[in-house]
Amino acid sequence: MAMNIPSRRFDTLIIGAGGGGLRAALQLSSADAHVAVVSKVFPTRSHTVAAQGGVNAALANVRPDNWHWHMFDTVKGSDYLGDQDAIEYMCRAAPQAVYELEHFGVPFSRLDDGRIYQRQFGGQSMNFGGEQAARTCAAADRTGHAILQSLYQQNIRAKTHFFDEYFAVDLVRDAEGCLLGALVMEIASGELLLIEAKTTLLATGGAGQLFRTNTNALINTGDGMAMALRAGIPLQDMEFFQFHPTGIAGKGMLITEGARGEGGYLVNAEGERFMERYAPHAKDLASRDVVSRAIATEVREGRGCGEHKDHVLLKLDHLGAATVHKRLPGICDMVGTFLGTDPAVTPIPVAPTAHYTMGGIPTNRFGQVIIPEQQGPEEPVPGLYAAGECACVSVHGANRLGGNSLLDILVFGRAAANHIVDYLKENRYHRPLPEDAVDQGLARLARWEQKGEGESVDALRSELARVMEANCGVFRTREVLSDGLDKVSALAVRMADVRLRDHSAVFNTARIEAMELENLMDVALATVASALQREESRGAHSRIDYPERDDVHWLKHSLYHHETRTVDHKPVRTKPITVSSFPPKERVY
Ligand SMILES: Cc1cc2nc3c(=O)[nH]c(=O)nc-3n(C[C@H](O)[C@H](O)[C@H](O)COP(=O)(O)OP(=O)(O)OC[C@H]3O[C@@H](n4cnc5c(N)ncnc54)[C@H](O)[C@@H]3O)c2cc1C
Repeated sequence: MAMNIPSRRFDTLIIGAGGGGLRAALQLSSADAHVAVVSKVFPTRSHTVAAQGGVNAALANVRPDNWHWHMFDTVKGSDYLGDQDAIEYMCRAAPQAVYELEHFGVPFSRLDDGRIYQRQFGGQSMNFGGEQAARTCAAADRTGHAILQSLYQQNIRAKTHFFDEYFAVDLVRDAEGCLLGALVMEIASGELLLIEAKTTLLATGGAGQLFRTNTNALINTGDGMAMALRAGIPLQDMEFFQFHPTGIAGKGMLITEGARGEGGYLVNAEGERFMERYAPHAKDLASRDVVSRAIATEVREGRGCGEHKDHVLLKLDHLGAATVHKRLPGICDMVGTFLGTDPAVTPIPVAPTAHYTMGGIPTNRFGQVIIPEQQGPEEPVPGLYAAGECACVSVHGANRLGGNSLLDILVFGRAAANHIVDYLKENRYHRPLPEDAVDQGLARLARWEQKGEGESVDALRSELARVMEANCGVFRTREVLSDGLDKVSALAVRMADVRLRDHSAVFNTARIEAMELENLMDVALATVASALQREESRGAHSRIDYPERDDVHWLKHSLYHHETRTVDHKPVRTKPITVSSFPPKERVY
């Protein structure tokens, strides 16, 4: 069958043109590798464009700082589940990552003396848990936009080959499990293309569309994670999904943590600054999981604001219009558009909203995808890499700190590319393509050739997102989760008969919507099953029936397997590269 499909050959195929994919592509193209980047949207529309608050690096421009304090904060923020070798590597590489961006043309906000401005973000401290640090480098509140535009332009200059608006259907492997590229579809025409590559990097971003109220773009459907599952690769730590404390209530759009970093704070219906009770020291700049639980608790105990008492208020009016308008221009625009108010005058109604996928495709700090063996050493999947939000290195562990994700995509996008350059030196030829290379991908497409008779893709997708929100949210119990698992399993069965949008002019996009929903289903199952088995509370995973962290039984990563729908575990890498470990301690802010 493969013979009828046109094919192109590259050294490296990168699936995803967000910050992770573009940083890797730039490194590879600059090293004269022949690189293809496939993206289902035009590159600069990837979700990285929406990042507001900034990227962390211990530059010490505003307050004293060093990478080791940054490392401590990240390990503590991860609730000790993060792998400390990867965290050390990331924090040490951060200043260089930011200076590189500066040289690529990112217009960072500046101090009066010309150095890069740095704002305070949650979970940042000086001296291993001391006073608040200021570590987040920002281009006002449009940092991701600035980064993505600069990286895209640099890639054009470096002659990276882009396949814009192509949808990756499935990975292509041989019998030994070596990665040979992917089957992709041009969205406008429906034409298929086989991209053969010596190495493939997944950089497909997160899966925020799992939940009804979320901050993510509509395209964040976990496609790369689902492709990995179908290729027999387990997903790691999927129970850890970050709920950002400040989404616009009822709508979900993100109000950056930078708003609290600039001095904003939360109040309940009684006008009380309640974070003082939950985090006496860090208050509104406690870690995100802590602030989200505090808001959920205030609402549950009847101190929520508004007609339905279902949110709290974020106050910025005391900061003065000049600061608010200069440091948070994008937030002012967004609040003006969606609420018709000015945050410098009127507090913003906010509630927790699904934001970030901590779990993902297991990798080491070189970006190699790793299949952990039960006994014996971990084995990399030959030719396969992952970086960015779709990957789990794991630097964020059970809870990610604000400003660490942009850092993650830059540092590990670059690290993966450097490893690929070496791999290409040793593996100079394309491996032969087996006869059945694209069969799995074609079978998947064939399922969506007919329109189906059942409910619509849209209806099923909304129901999935409602179930996930109700059954896998901020607070969890065994009862609610097992109910969730039953419901998601039932929805996955209904998927078989789903009805495609029946407008003939949009038939390709209708097929893609169906495949995206199929991907979401698989990732949803991974998420609920992983949450159900973890009987402790750690970071973003908060079990009312197991309220304590349990290091004796649960200081380990989860691995969800698609074939068997089961979860097993692997150890946390608690040894850093050069410094000594930060052993688990009680986590207070
Ligand atoms: C509103 C918002 C604000 C944020 N603010 C910050 C912040 O201030 N600081 C911070 O550190 N982090 C922030 N984050 C998190 C951070 O922005 C993301 O985690 C990060 O940008 C993800 O980058 P990525 O390269 O992994 O993926 P993305 O930028 O999501 O890109 C994914 C790419 O994969 C492509 N793709 C996916 N599936 C397919 C497929 N099947 N076929 C072809 N292409 C595909 C897409 O087209 C896209 O190009 C924020 C996130 C959100 C949602």
